[in-house]
Amino acid sequence: MQKTAAPGTASPAKTPSGKGAQTAPDRPPRTPLPAVAGQVRERLRALCARPPQTLCMEGGTAPDREAAAMAWAKLLNCVDPAEKGCGQCSACRQIDERAFRDLIVVDKAYFEEAKQQESLSGTDAMRRLLPVWGQPPHGAGSRVTIFIEAQDLHPAVANLLLKTLEEPRPGNVFVLLTPQRERLLQTLVSRSFVLTLPWPRPDAPEPGAAEWIDALLTFWDTGQGWFERTGSKGAADRGLALRILSGLSQGLACALAQRGDGQESPVARRLARLGPAGLRRLDLVLAQAQEALTMPTAPAALVLDWLATAVIPKPAPAQKRPR
Ligand SMILES: [Zn+2]
Repeated sequence: MQKTAAPGTASPAKTPSGKGAQTAPDRPPRTPLPAVAGQVRERLRALCARPPQTLCMEGGTAPDREAAAMAWAKLLNCVDPAEKGCGQCSACRQIDERAFRDLIVVDKAYFEEAKQQESLSGTDAMRRLLPVWGQPPHGAGSRVTIFIEAQDLHPAVANLLLKTLEEPRPGNVFVLLTPQRERLLQTLVSRSFVLTLPWPRPDAPEPGAAEWIDALLTFWDTGQGWFERTGSKGAADRGLALRILSGLSQGLACALAQRGDGQESPVARRLARLGPAGLRRLDLVLAQAQEALTMPTAPAALVLDWLATAVIPKPAPAQKRPR
């Protein structure tokens, strides 16, 4: 049988989290996760009585979601009978260190390591976890498998996951983390209990970026005034482009939350005019623009121009000029 890299098996250094249980000298120390909001902790505690096989956590920031997922793993595996998720017992501490044998973290690093070290494709890296999920957990709690930023899973991998979730997996629970449930396969969401974390506060974008975001929103309203801006030489650099994307992402999260409590940021209010399809498109476009900017050589102005036009819906083929 191939190495399944099951946590707690003979090779603890190769947990599927790729975080290398106790041994990972080459990894930078993890930044501490933020505290889990009290109301989220209470919801998780209530869910403990009958843990859903799949929990989808949306909202919050990426570290908020990861912290909530870790809190969930601790609640389900803590050995302190008095205070579940105590944070002090051996199980809780091992979970904090990602060295717990019934914890699997599937993130980008997991797939990258499987590729680099064992030349495994994404689907093969996923397949080697199947026998692990077919087994009950090692300890008395639940095996918790966390998919970080599950919206980034390759479609073939997401489909394998869906097949996995369609079967009962005694003793195993799954957690899908994503900014918004709309970004996951609908079939995955429908199999999940969805928990929405408090949305990030709609901070006003930084002054420099705010002006550009304003111009972009105006361009989407009127089709004017954008290219003059990006066209002037050296106007937009990568740092500014990233701040613009971040401001738009915050506005988008807020617009999608549709709070209607009058607390939305002005950006969110204007973005809401794009309508559900427009917001969905913006979500995808932002992700692609972010990806493009990870290349240090990407011309920021071009990425921004692409962003500006890609959000505008293309006319349907039927509306094209007849020949
Ligand atoms: Zn504990």
